[in-house]
Amino acid sequence: MRPRPPTYTKFRDVQAEIERTGSAIFRDAEGVESLIIRYPYSIQYIHSYAEDSPFFLGLAEGKLRGSRCRRPKCRFVYATPRSHCMVCGAPTEWFDLPTEGRVHSWTTCHFGSEAFLSETPYNLAMVEFDGVGSLLLVRLKDAVESDCYVGMPVRAVFDPNPKYSITDVWFVPRR
Ligand SMILES: [Zn+2]
Repeated sequence: MRPRPPTYTKFRDVQAEIERTGSAIFRDAEGVESLIIRYPYSIQYIHSYAEDSPFFLGLAEGKLRGSRCRRPKCRFVYATPRSHCMVCGAPTEWFDLPTEGRVHSWTTCHFGSEAFLSETPYNLAMVEFDGVGSLLLVRLKDAVESDCYVGMPVRAVFDPNPKYSITDVWFVPRR
């Protein structure tokens, strides 16, 4: 026999109980009860970045790489990897983005996936760069929600221990 886990109507109380004991019951607004447990789950992926590889190799070298249309009459500039131009369809070439930009928009996330739980709440920002036609979605650290504003000058920071992941870069306010 195992005693029935305690019942909660707020999910944050369920989360706290799961942290303490590994199981809890959540009762929803209609009175339906769900048993919720902690369940370890792990997968090792073997993943190819393929033609996006220079972007991730660049992060590990402290470089932000964007892509630029090769067609002379277009030359549209992207803040992200893109093998072909979204405007005209021509192939692109890599170039180094500036490491300083401005906040175009942002949101503060009060929920996060497992990788970001330790830093939740955290900011996600769309960063704009001079001379670049699209935006880069990145985390914005060292700023609370009330610090952030549209047009805020920001600069890139690169993880000194890169993992070839988009989390190898984040931005902070330029002061
Ligand atoms: Zn183009």
